Amino acid sequence: MTTPLHPRTTIPAPVRVQAPGKINIHLGVGAANDGYHELATVFQALNLGETLTLIPGGTRSIIVQGRYADAAVPHDETNFARRAVDLLITALEGERDVDVLRDLDIVIDKQVPVAGGMGGGSADAAAALVGAAHLVGGVDDAIVHECAVAVGADVAFLLRGGTAIGQGRGELLSPVLTRGTFHWVMATSTSPLSTPDVYARFDELNPDPAPAAVPDQVLKALAAGEPDTLAEFAANDLTEAAVSFMPEIAEIMEAGRDAGAVLPLLSGSGPTIGFLARDAHHALDLAVLLQATRGVNEALRTTGPAPGAHIVDGD
Ligand code: ATP
Repeated sequence: MTTPLHPRTTIPAPVRVQAPGKINIHLGVGAANDGYHELATVFQALNLGETLTLIPGGTRSIIVQGRYADAAVPHDETNFARRAVDLLITALEGERDVDVLRDLDIVIDKQVPVAGGMGGGSADAAAALVGAAHLVGGVDDAIVHECAVAVGADVAFLLRGGTAIGQGRGELLSPVLTRGTFHWVMATSTSPLSTPDVYARFDELNPDPAPAAVPDQVLKALAAGEPDTLAEFAANDLTEAAVSFMPEIAEIMEAGRDAGAVLPLLSGSGPTIGFLARDAHHALDLAVLLQATRGVNEALRTTGPAPGAHIVDGD
């Protein structure tokens, strides 16, 4: 028997990480610059999230399972989770031993609808970054943040969780004070909506948009726990553009309003619509009604604010 010149040291144990999905409680959209729109948004992290398991010593495979496993999630290096890990390798290479990250298998338990405006792919990237940082013994927050932003504008928020204002492309974050638990019903759609298409339509509809802003009243309503004031001032500037592709979005919003939803809101660029309920019981009633509404695929109940990406199991 020959002894390998560089015997492999013990392979670290797998690490399991959870990351939340999100809703945009307010989404102000301004002009496009260098291909990106100026945003002023209020993100809230939701208790409807993804669980990733990073398994060292694998073959770089990506396994997608869970409720939304069948949807078109890439299994190659374009998957946001893999991209996030590869970016971290590049950022640390030469200074740290990153070999453990090179052959990771990644198992994604997909509980956030794909291409629904709830940041599922971004949550996978955030979870992958937290898990990968753990596997190399911890990484400076600034480096993790840089990798997050390189994958996508929502990833930085999903690392952090809670409720926060996002400016720039959504990556410049400041925390927002909120009171109590928010009970949401998320109505997913039977068909997807392309984010670039919705932004392109926004540009056509708004050739000279006002600078993106979060109204002060929205922040005050969140801090004071006043849902009716929130309903009066919170809005998503992409709603008209999304409705122009899918008129049923307006009908579903109206159905929720008729059922007493405090605030129907398009999530991101849609087509998922979030409905703020008055309490957990109201959320149940709303979910039953929305589930029977034309154009709604599923009515998912969830709450916010939820924590950002965090390890749930690992050495
Ligand atoms: P956002 O709200 O951040 O705009 P979204 O929730 O609308 O995003 P995602 O589910 O993140 O959309 O997916 C958008 C596209 O990204 C998918 O259609 C898919 O091609 C690609 N993608 C890459 N990696 C992933 C991933 N891990 N999970 C889901 N989609 C991914």
